[in-house]
Amino acid sequence: MKKRLVSAMQPSGKPHLGNYFGAMKQFVDMQEESDAFISVVNYHAMTTVTDGKTLRENTRDVVLDYLAIGLDPEKITLFVQSDVPELTELTWIFNCLVTMPWLARAHAFKDKTEKGIEASVGLFDYPVLMAADILMMDAQIVPVGQDQKQHVEMAREVARKFNNQYGDTFVEPEVVIREDVSVVPGTDGQKMSKSYGNTIPLFGTDSEIKKAVMGIVTDSKEPADKKDPDEVIVYKIYKLIAPEKSEEMKSGLEAGGLGYGDAKKMLLEAILEMVAPMREKREYYEQNSDLVEDILKKGKQKARSVAEIKMQDVREKVGLL
Ligand code: ADP
Repeated sequence: MKKRLVSAMQPSGKPHLGNYFGAMKQFVDMQEESDAFISVVNYHAMTTVTDGKTLRENTRDVVLDYLAIGLDPEKITLFVQSDVPELTELTWIFNCLVTMPWLARAHAFKDKTEKGIEASVGLFDYPVLMAADILMMDAQIVPVGQDQKQHVEMAREVARKFNNQYGDTFVEPEVVIREDVSVVPGTDGQKMSKSYGNTIPLFGTDSEIKKAVMGIVTDSKEPADKKDPDEVIVYKIYKLIAPEKSEEMKSGLEAGGLGYGDAKKMLLEAILEMVAPMREKREYYEQNSDLVEDILKKGKQKARSVAEIKMQDVREKVGLL
């Protein structure tokens, strides 16, 4: 039997190369071998997006992005989180099981509050909603980037706690992290993240992508100088996009002769080549909105039918029925 895979993206802004290699591409790579439930988690995005129009547009955009990168709605279940409102009900039930000190341990929450963000209760509760997303669908595998590892471990703890309290109900999922893409660097060398302003957008215009690539931080070495490729951010990103051609850049940097300007041009070209067919597909779905509506309707039906069965069992166990 195929393993149930569950993962998601927040519609909190434009997906970037970190999201693509760290998470989205893996959904595509694994869609044959697994029974995947992939969603756009708009309840999650409400922790940062507080404008209705923006949230609605971003949600639509991520659906198009998913289809554009090659997710096949015939093979996977693609849905929008708020189409399954049972997820918020399960979150409440989990909220009554976990404690505040336990939640306060989450790194992502700590990082944000340390940066001076005044956290909403929703942001604090983010890992519990994520546990509901994962456990509701009986996920066995959850492919994510390194930054989400702790949240998946927290979901496992929630499953264990519920099962101990009320009897066997939830599956403890395994986290899947591809080591080579666990942390894709941004233009400043830190983890690429929407919140750090160091991203290269996956579906930007040519000039947006060019601006981001040309802005990648380099040191002051001249083209003729020898460079350590592992220290060069341009190379680290190039290796992900054009692995078959990366040896050429590597040897040019090591031997000297390849300057940062030329390396950036090679990277820009490789990105544009990679996204060209994706852009075409995105355009197609953008023009065929009925098709997209239909895909989401089917996804909603499938995801909701799983959630309804699970919630019936949960409600009985906790004493709501
Ligand atoms: P962001 O950090 O940009 O807000 P999200 O929280 O929406 O991104 O993350 C969506 C998915 O992309 C998660 O699985 C996350 O682990 C992965 N991801 C995000 N940034 C990176 C990165 N720089 N490298 C690898 N994976 C990443």
